[in-house]
Amino acid sequence: MLKKEGSLMSQTYYRPTFIRINLSAIQTNIQHLKQTLPKHTKIIAVVKANAYGHGDIEVANAALSAGATQLAVATPEEALRIRDAGITAELLVLGAVPASFLSKASEKNITLTAYSLEWLHSIRHFTGPLKVHVKIDSGMGRIGFVEEGELTEALAFIQQRSWLQITGAFTHFSTADEENTEHYNKQVKTFERLLSLFKFKPDIVHTANSAALLRDPNQFWDAVRFGISMYGIAPSSFIGENLPFPLKQALALETEVVHVKKIKKGASVGYGAMYTAVEDEWIATLPIGYADGLLRKLHNQSVLVNGKRAKIVGKICMDQCMIRLEEQVPLGEKAVLIGKQAAEEITIEEWADALQTIPYEICCMLSNRIPRIYSK
Ligand SMILES: *Cc1c(COP(=O)(O)O)cnc(C)c1O
Repeated sequence: MLKKEGSLMSQTYYRPTFIRINLSAIQTNIQHLKQTLPKHTKIIAVVKANAYGHGDIEVANAALSAGATQLAVATPEEALRIRDAGITAELLVLGAVPASFLSKASEKNITLTAYSLEWLHSIRHFTGPLKVHVKIDSGMGRIGFVEEGELTEALAFIQQRSWLQITGAFTHFSTADEENTEHYNKQVKTFERLLSLFKFKPDIVHTANSAALLRDPNQFWDAVRFGISMYGIAPSSFIGENLPFPLKQALALETEVVHVKKIKKGASVGYGAMYTAVEDEWIATLPIGYADGLLRKLHNQSVLVNGKRAKIVGKICMDQCMIRLEEQVPLGEKAVLIGKQAAEEITIEEWADALQTIPYEICCMLSNRIPRIYSK
């Protein structure tokens, strides 16, 4: 049983499955970044998707106290959660937002992304005040202005409306995490060309995501958007091998052994009886399953028990899974699915490789059923 600390509502958890978030690791990553940036370059902490599964409010507060000065999220709902928690820092919604959100955005001082003429047209009846960052699509092919003509028209549209204020301009790189910089360099050029159409320089120009800020000081501008690497995770193995400062992973996924038994040679384990013991074997049950984000495709993954790797055996169930142990362990023995134990470590990258995906997706798939426990 564990009491959750640091939250207003003290909640008791009975299932011993937790995500531990080391907020100091996040703060250390921010401080290291801050030391590499010019004094005037601000850090925008990207806390979308519940802070990449780490917990939006806790991470936002920790990031702001460590030196980040602004926040970015993806959706109106995420922005409102930040404001409802009493956080007043500059806050940018990176994604497309419907006109129905404008009055809330205005009331709560939430900055929106202006990304197309259609969008500007859709907000023409609003009376403001409203702050926007103008999004330039320099080669990502997502939201943003592509053509000089449409951008010029958009800037004129905004300038004609005193309630609408441009406080920033930005773009987003699609290949900053790759060794080959051809497309990246093209994006840089395109952005600079489109930025020159602004009659005045917006307060904060920002282009860099984690990958760009870790590899290219030319993209520091007035602010950088620190996402995945704020959580201590490299955006790609290429970036991970060439880091300007070490990254400290903040997240650990832990549970406890709730049952241990010796099964006979030839006995089977799990749905479909897909695993058969080749000898008499110690099998332990862990109270975590695919409903928690331990996807069935992770059936070849290991778990750390007693500082050693123990393989998952049989199919992963919705709420439980089984592991094979070399020896008996007591009930309540800790099992680490992601994180360190003794000299061993299982990283988020290891899960990503096993699932042929990127670490971002691993962070986002750990479900809300698992309580997040915070330490400093
Ligand atoms: C998510 C996002 C980021 C953060 O990217 P990381 O690779 O996690 O650092 C930055 N900018 C935009 C527009 C985003 O959508």
